[in-house]
Amino acid sequence: MNYPKVILKSGKDQSVRRYHPWIFSGAIKKIIGNVNEGDLVYVTDNKDEFLAIGHYQIGSIMVRIISFEEKEIEDSIWKEKIEKAYELRKMTGIATSENNNVYRLVHAEGDGLPGLIIDFYNGTAVIQMHSIGMYLNREHIVNALKEVLGDKLTAVYDKSENTIPFKSDIEAKNGYIYGESSENIVLEYGNKFKINWEEGQKTGFFVDQRENRKLVAEYSKGRSVLNVFGYTGGFSVYAMKGDAKLVHSVDSSKKAIELTNENIDLNFEDTSRHEAFAVDAFEYLNNIDNKYDLIILDPPAFAKHQNVLHNALQGYKRLNIKAIEQIKPGGILFTFSCSQVVSKENFRKTIFTAATNTGRNVRILHQLNQPVDHPINVYHPESEYLKGLVVYVE
Ligand code: SAH
Repeated sequence: MNYPKVILKSGKDQSVRRYHPWIFSGAIKKIIGNVNEGDLVYVTDNKDEFLAIGHYQIGSIMVRIISFEEKEIEDSIWKEKIEKAYELRKMTGIATSENNNVYRLVHAEGDGLPGLIIDFYNGTAVIQMHSIGMYLNREHIVNALKEVLGDKLTAVYDKSENTIPFKSDIEAKNGYIYGESSENIVLEYGNKFKINWEEGQKTGFFVDQRENRKLVAEYSKGRSVLNVFGYTGGFSVYAMKGDAKLVHSVDSSKKAIELTNENIDLNFEDTSRHEAFAVDAFEYLNNIDNKYDLIILDPPAFAKHQNVLHNALQGYKRLNIKAIEQIKPGGILFTFSCSQVVSKENFRKTIFTAATNTGRNVRILHQLNQPVDHPINVYHPESEYLKGLVVYVE
């Protein structure tokens, strides 16, 4: 095999032997051969024993592993891996259900494809690449998608402009790399959503909250619901479907509020139960005493790095104190964190501290996480990022 060689320091082979798909810069002893960003490299331990093959990139994560098998990486690998990912979505029913045509097709490390995210929106695949190696294989990835999805695929939109490391030589531009799509209404468990992948956040929609939205519907009957950090109004649509008495959506972005209103209009003839406010969440929560008996808090990731973890936890605490303090007796709080660096234990402790602060009797009813189309690679605990608690406040 003629790949440049990356030799690890003594003892630094342990995590690779446990199939962790990242190699950090500090683990590398030397590199033999001429290597460019995005190239495949052959990784060995200190004694020249083969460990893995992966994409090289300058940065703290220097190699993202594509294969733990010692074999030439053929172009067919893309189709093989994407097909496996699709089979899993079919097996779990999420890609075959009649009332659902939006799901995550590829969840990076969770599908053995570090650096690659693909969300499927009723015919349009929106792909987001986080590594140069993936970016250089765009064409293979598109061809694989065409082969695997067949006539289910009408367009592929590449949204990597802001996810490719800005220091690299690549100037990624967002745009269609196959077909073009004007149809952007999707169905999630029978609910309609307008998705704007060109302008929206991330790939356009937070697919990861699907099951949790469904649970909100189950608790909404007769309740006054407040959906904070609502974005597309996903939770609000489900609360309305679940016969909430009233639903209020809050997001600081005007665009998000417009989108929320559009999505409510798409699903309901009579929208008088719903109202949306473009205001800051912390401000809005200053004065909601006894107004709501179901509150959803789904903030953006407060911590993107370990070094700001403490501040992030303080943010979650402040937010949850406000909600727990003021929710009506017998109220239900759905509270989430999507920060990868906030562990399940840390999040739970934060809610515990918030509850203690209010002195109210709080009990956990559900512990929530990410859905089946966001699988967690057991060898890569970092792929688990979404956590939520449903608590009952007496
Ligand atoms: N719950 C949403 C996803 C939330 S994403 C869903 O189910 O799809 C986080 C949202 O929080 C974004 O729409 C962003 O505009 C909003 N946001 C960020 N900071 C905010 C703040 N201080 N006050 C209100 N909204 C905020």
